[in-house]
Amino acid sequence: MAAGWNRDHVSRGITQGGKIFQETFIDTYDPSVLRRMQYMLYEIKWSNNKKPWQSCCHSTRTEHAEIHFIEDVFQEQRSDPSAHCSITWYMSWSPCGDCCKEIRDFLKDQPNVNLVIYVARIYWHKEETNRQGLRSLVNIGVTIRVMDLPAYSYCWRTFVDDDDEDEDDYWPRHFAPWIMLYSLELQTILQNIPSCLEISTDENQTPVFSLCVEDDQQKRALTSANRDSILFPTDHVSRGIRQGGKISKEAFMENYDPSVLPKETYLLYEIKWSSSKRPWQNCCHNSLTEHAEIYFLEDIFKKQRSDPSDHCSITWYMSWSPCGDCCKAIRGFLKDQPNVNLVIYVARIYWHKEETNRQGLRSLVNIGVSIRVMDLPVYSYCWRTFVDDEDKDEDDYWPRHYSPWIMLYSLELQSILQNIPSCLEISSGENQTPVFSLCIENDQQKRALTSANP
Ligand SMILES: [Zn+2]
Ligand SMILES: [Zn+2]
Repeated sequence: MAAGWNRDHVSRGITQGGKIFQETFIDTYDPSVLRRMQYMLYEIKWSNNKKPWQSCCHSTRTEHAEIHFIEDVFQEQRSDPSAHCSITWYMSWSPCGDCCKEIRDFLKDQPNVNLVIYVARIYWHKEETNRQGLRSLVNIGVTIRVMDLPAYSYCWRTFVDDDDEDEDDYWPRHFAPWIMLYSLELQTILQNIPSCLEISTDENQTPVFSLCVEDDQQKRALTSANRDSILFPTDHVSRGIRQGGKISKEAFMENYDPSVLPKETYLLYEIKWSSSKRPWQNCCHNSLTEHAEIYFLEDIFKKQRSDPSDHCSITWYMSWSPCGDCCKAIRGFLKDQPNVNLVIYVARIYWHKEETNRQGLRSLVNIGVSIRVMDLPVYSYCWRTFVDDEDKDEDDYWPRHYSPWIMLYSLELQSILQNIPSCLEISSGENQTPVFSLCIENDQQKRALTSANP
C-alpha cells in the first residue's frame, strides 16, 4: 500500500521525502486560478518533541486531503495522547462542509489538539453547508485564515523541494488582490453575512473575480479583512509576532523587561469561553493609529465571539498598562458585555503620574476588573504559553533580575488604586538609561508599600 501511495504522490508533485515540487506548489496554491486537486501541507508539533513533523498530501478521487490526514497521517504520527499537539494545515482549498464535520469530531476526540488552517482559496464559497462548516470550526477554537504573503513565503521555505530554491525569494506580491478577495469572503462567512465575491469565467475559461459589496455590514467586513489579513500579519511578523500568533523570544524579552521603556505596547491575550474547553491564545500590539486594547476590543473579540450568553474570561498580559482613553473604551466594552470577565497583568504602568491614566485604572478596578503587575510566575507562564522559540527551555524562564522593578511598579499600582500620591520617579541617566527611584514620604505611602510587598 505504501509503495502505491508514494508512487501516486510522486506522480502528482510530491517527493518521496514529503516535499512538494516547486512547479506544483506555484500552480496549485495560486489563488487566481481554480485547480481541481486539493493539496495540504501540514505541520504537527508535539509538546514532548521539539522537532515538528512536516509533510504534504493531496486529495484522491475518493477522499479529501483532510480525511486522509485525520484517518491515516495523524494515527501514524500520534504518540502519547496526553501530549499537547499543535497542527497547522496550509491548504490549496478550504475544507468542504462534510470535512468540517469530520474535523469537529476529530477535535472532540482529541482535546489536546489545537488546529490552525491556512487556505489559498475557499471551496465552493457560496455553498451554505461549506460556509456553516467553516463557522462551526471557528466556534470550537480552530483558527482559519487566508494564506497571506508571509504564509506563502513560509511554505516555500518549509515544504517546497527545490535544489536551487532561494530561501528569501518567494514573495508572490501579484497574489495580493486575490488574497484580499478571499480574506474578505472569509470574513463574510465567519461574520455570517452575505457573500461579497463572484467568480465567473470569461470566453477563455479564465476565472474572473468580482467584489460585490452592497451594504454597510459588508463594508465593515472589508475593513477588518483588509487590516487583519493583508496588512496586519506582515506588520506583525516584522515586529516579533509569528504566523501562529506567538511572540518571538526576542520581542518578548525586550518588550516585557520592566527596567526599560520601549515604545510599543504588546498584548498577549487568552480568551476562555464557558462552552469551550480550548482557550484562544494569541498576541497583538499597537499600530501607529490604534492602541492594542482597542484593536482587541473592536477586532479580535468580535471575531472570536460566539454565543453572547456564554460566560467569557479574558486575560491580558500587557507590556504597558492601558491609558486613560483605553480605560474608558474598556469600561464601555464591559458594560455592553455583562458576561465578560477581565484580568489585566501589566509589565509597566503607562505615564504613571498622569492623573487621567491613574483615574482610568481605578475606574476599571471599581467595575470589577482585576489589575496586577506581572510577577515571576506570570513571566514564566507567558513564556510557556505565548513565546515561540524552537529551542527555548520550557521551564527555564524565571527572570529574577526583574524583581526590583516588579516591586516598584507593584507599589506604584497600589498608590494608584488607593488614590494616594505617586511613589515612583523615573528619570533618565547619562546614557538615556531610565533611573527608577522610590519616594515614600508619608504614612499612607508606607502602608501602600506594605500591601504591595507580597
Ligand atoms: Zn472535503
Ligand atoms: Zn491606550
